[in-house]
Amino acid sequence: MEQQWWHQAIVYQVYPKSFKDTNDDGVGDIRGIIEKLDYIQSLGVNVLWLNPIFKSPQVDHGYDISDYYQLDPQFGTIADMEELIAESGKRGLKVILDFVVNHTSDLHPWFIESRKSKDNPYRDFYIWRDGHDGKEPTNWASFFGGSTWAYDPTTDQYYFHLFDKKMPDLNWENPKLRKEVYQIAEFWLKKGIAGFRLDAIIHLAKDQRFQNYESDTNDGDYVIAEPCYAHLPRVHEFIRKFNHAIHKINPNILLIGEAASADSELAKLYTDPENEEFDCIISFQQLEPELLHEDAELPKNWQIGHLNLANFKKTMKQWQEDLYEHGWSALFWNNHDMPRLLTRFGDTRYPRESATMLATLMYLQRGMPIIYQGEEIGMTNLRLSEINDYNDSGIEDFVKKARGLGYTTSEILNRVHSCSRQTSRGAMQWSKGLNAGFSTIKPWLGVNDDYLKVNVEEQENNPESILNYYRDLLRIRLERKVFVEGNWELIDEENPSIYAYKRHYNDQSALVLCNFTNKPHVFHYPNLPSWNCILNNKGKRERLHEQLVLERYECYVLIKEK
Ligand code: BGC
Repeated sequence: MEQQWWHQAIVYQVYPKSFKDTNDDGVGDIRGIIEKLDYIQSLGVNVLWLNPIFKSPQVDHGYDISDYYQLDPQFGTIADMEELIAESGKRGLKVILDFVVNHTSDLHPWFIESRKSKDNPYRDFYIWRDGHDGKEPTNWASFFGGSTWAYDPTTDQYYFHLFDKKMPDLNWENPKLRKEVYQIAEFWLKKGIAGFRLDAIIHLAKDQRFQNYESDTNDGDYVIAEPCYAHLPRVHEFIRKFNHAIHKINPNILLIGEAASADSELAKLYTDPENEEFDCIISFQQLEPELLHEDAELPKNWQIGHLNLANFKKTMKQWQEDLYEHGWSALFWNNHDMPRLLTRFGDTRYPRESATMLATLMYLQRGMPIIYQGEEIGMTNLRLSEINDYNDSGIEDFVKKARGLGYTTSEILNRVHSCSRQTSRGAMQWSKGLNAGFSTIKPWLGVNDDYLKVNVEEQENNPESILNYYRDLLRIRLERKVFVEGNWELIDEENPSIYAYKRHYNDQSALVLCNFTNKPHVFHYPNLPSWNCILNNKGKRERLHEQLVLERYECYVLIKEK
C-alpha cells in the first residue's frame, strides 16, 4: 500500500468528560486537555481523538448533538478548541474529532423543525413513516431497548431512532442533509483538525422497504435487524460521497469509521484505498469474548466472557492477512463503549505483567494502535455502589430484562461492574490527591477507589511502571519500519498458551512472543540466540538461549537486522 502519514499514527483516545477538570464543576474540559498535553506527548503518541465535544443535552454523553458549530458549554469554547489544536500541533499531535452524523439530538433545530409538519422543509432530514394498525412501522429493535420507532402525535407519524428515542436518525437519502454535513465537516477542518472518527457510520443507510424482519431469536416484540440497517450497499455510496467532499477541502484528512460489527471482509471493502471510503475502521469483532453459557439469555454485551486464545488467534490472523495490502484497522483493547482492558482481559492479581504483555501483543501488529485514556497506567473498571449511579442509556433495558429473568439486585450490580460501558468512563487517575487529581469536586460519574495506588504521578516516578513500559513500547513501534510496514505471520499457531508472531520488512525482522497465561511455558524457535532482545516486560535484555522459558505473562520483542 502507498505510504500515508497515518500509517505511523498512534492514537490516544481522550474521553473529555473524565480527563481533567479545570473549572471545578466535576466534568473534564478542553482546558484540562490543554493542561495535560505534555503528558500526552510524553507517551509517544501522535494523534489525539476526542470523544464528542459539541453542544448536546448529554442524553448519550455527547453522542446526541444539538449544535455542530458550538462546543458544549461544559467543555469550553471554540476559542479553547482553537488553542487545543494549536498547542497540540506544537507538540507533534494531530487532533481528530468524533463526528456523529448518523443521528442528532431531538433538540437539534433540524429536528425541532422536522417534527412540526409533514411539509416542513426539514421533514426529510429525518425518517418518518406511518404506523401499521396502530403499531410501529416495523418490528426492528433499537440498540438501547424497545422499538426503533417513536410515535409523534403532532403529525401522527413515527420517526426512526436506532439508539435512544431522543436521538433521531438522519435521512442520508436526502442530498440537502448530506450537503449540510459536508459544511459542518469543512468548518472543523478549517480549524485545523486532522480528521474524523465517524460514529456508528455503518448504519447510515436503511432498507427503504421498511419491512418486518424475521429472526430465530425473535423473543420479544422487537428484533435486532442488522440486515435492514447495517452495512447496506448505500452505506458505501454515502461514505464515498463524504470522502470525496472532504478530500476536496484537504487531501490529507484521516477518516476512521466506527464499524462495530464489521468482519474482515467488510473491513476490506471499507478501507481498501481503491474504494475511497475510510482509511481505517474500528471493529469490535476482534475482541469478541467467549461467553459463559449460564448467561445465555441476557443480551450479548451484558454477558461475562473471557478471551479464548485459540479463537482470538484465528480472528486476528484473518484480519491481519485479509487487510494486508488492502486496508487498515484499529488495534485496541478497550474504549469508552467497553469495560477496561485490565478488568476484562487482564489479570488483576498481576496487573503490571498482564497489562504490559497485552499491550505488546496488540500494538506491534499491523494497524493503528488506539490507546484509551488510563489504560497506560492500568486503570480498572469503575465500581459504583448503586445501579442508578451508572446513569447510562441501555442500562435500564438490561436491568428490566435481568429482573425478568430472576436476577437479584446484587447479581445485577455485579454484572454492571463487569460489563457496563460506564465502567471505563471513571475519572482519570492523575495522583493520590483529592478526587485522584481530576477535580476539586466530586467527579460527575465517580472515581475508582484504587486511585491511591494506581495513578500517573506514582507511575512517573517508577521506572518499572506500566506507564513507562507503554512509553518504551510505543517508541519501539515508531522507530522501526518493520512494525508499520512489515508483513505479519502468526507462529506456533496451535500453541494453547503463547501468542507469537513474526514481522518482516526489507532487511528487518521482528519476533513478538507473549505468554498469555499465568504459568511458565517453554517456547522453541529455530536459532533464537541470533536475535536481539529490545524489550521484555520483566526487564531482561540478555541474549537468548536455544530454549526459552516465558514466565507468567512474560513477553519479548526480538529484532534481527542484516
Ligand atoms: C458510540 C457510543 C454511542 C453510539 C450512539 C457509538 O457507537 O461509540 O458511545 O452511544 O454510537 O452514538
